[in-house]
Amino acid sequence: MEYRELIACHECDALFRKPPRLRGLVARCSSCGAGMKGVRHAGLTLERVCAVTLAALITFLIAQAFPVLVLETNGLTSHATLVGAVQALWKGHMHIVAAMVFCTTMLFPSFELVALLYLLLPLRAGRVPRGFDAVLRLVQWVRPWGMTEVFMLGVLITIVKMVSLARVIPGTSLFAFGALTLMFCVIAAFDPCMLWEIRDEVANRGGAFIERTPRRARRNTVPAAVAPVARPAAAAVTARHAGLVACHCCGLVQSRSAHATDQHCVRCRSPLHERRPESLTRTFGLLLAAALLYIPANLLPIMHTSSLGGAEDDTILGGIAYFWRSGDWPLAAIVFVASVMVPMLKLAILTLQTVTAYRGSAWQPLERARLHRMVERIGRWSMLDVFVVSLTVALVHFGSLAQITAGPGALAFGSVVVLTMLASNEFDPRLIWDNVRRRPARAPTRP
Ligand SMILES: [Zn+2]
Ligand SMILES: [Zn+2]
Repeated sequence: MEYRELIACHECDALFRKPPRLRGLVARCSSCGAGMKGVRHAGLTLERVCAVTLAALITFLIAQAFPVLVLETNGLTSHATLVGAVQALWKGHMHIVAAMVFCTTMLFPSFELVALLYLLLPLRAGRVPRGFDAVLRLVQWVRPWGMTEVFMLGVLITIVKMVSLARVIPGTSLFAFGALTLMFCVIAAFDPCMLWEIRDEVANRGGAFIERTPRRARRNTVPAAVAPVARPAAAAVTARHAGLVACHCCGLVQSRSAHATDQHCVRCRSPLHERRPESLTRTFGLLLAAALLYIPANLLPIMHTSSLGGAEDDTILGGIAYFWRSGDWPLAAIVFVASVMVPMLKLAILTLQTVTAYRGSAWQPLERARLHRMVERIGRWSMLDVFVVSLTVALVHFGSLAQITAGPGALAFGSVVVLTMLASNEFDPRLIWDNVRRRPARAPTRP
């Protein structure tokens, strides 16, 4: 049985009455403070999302057609396009790094845009497109892996890096990527989870989907159930306590089958689990692999430069020291934070989360939940160095005069970023709160 009027927090499993459509407000769980997924937002209508997505797709195509940067030195000119960067890595036998750059900057962002248009345009016309469930599930899966904004920062760092060596001319693509980054910020504000509910409305009504904000919702937008009040977490009613389970994918709250081990969601057909199966074991395995690869990522060279003056290898720390020595302190700080601090922080925080959850600790649950959210948000920014390497490799290929190729450190570093992102995805944050709620409430002391 399904309960469409209920919503469960995806981070702490607390159960709420679904709030009305919001305008200019974000629904947050009053127990753990996480933003609630699947709550309809009246401010970002389907028309607006369609328009921005279409504009982003056109800008994306422009960004692929023109060079990002042009390098001029001693009468020689070199262009770097995004496709050229992937090709240069592939030719330099860095196949996995080439695949990482291709997927995060081209395949996943373009898939998200095309798939969103494929879903939104028919829904606007009052029709559910074929393969809706599979396409929307894929959109939700690829979303965290699109890294256009990180690539944009990588381009800016490459410009500063190259400007001391040669004349750098920004290409048409650079401006297109700038615009694309802003458009992706708007698209990221749209929660695709709410499309499941819109799909149901369209299927039930069989007509065009017209989005209107109810007058009552405009006047009183703060929902009673999801008011931003910190309630004691132990007192919250969870889906598990109520014998219910919320779908990981579409968020639908439904009855838990006591015997079925392979229960599937009645709406999106995704496998249903109270908690992610083997979450701690998988997180720990991925974390261990990432920690082991972090050592070669810092010791091995990420770039190899060969020129008439000789050959040179650059490690990540060497690159930061170069920026520092040449007086580019802000840049040295950005690269240090993105390439050294963020991966170390991620490894430390994920280890803390896994160990405390494994030991059944009820220590500081709110702070641990905030740390988990922070890791999910900052994880992608570590790809910065991989993008800088790929652009530099594509730009500097002047034959015997000067040639830069990617080193094995880039592969190890890229793998650390991907593995820590996977580990953070595998960790089930509800385990933090299960330990808090399992503890018996303290008996009131007699006066
Ligand atoms: Zn919560
Ligand atoms: Zn579902």
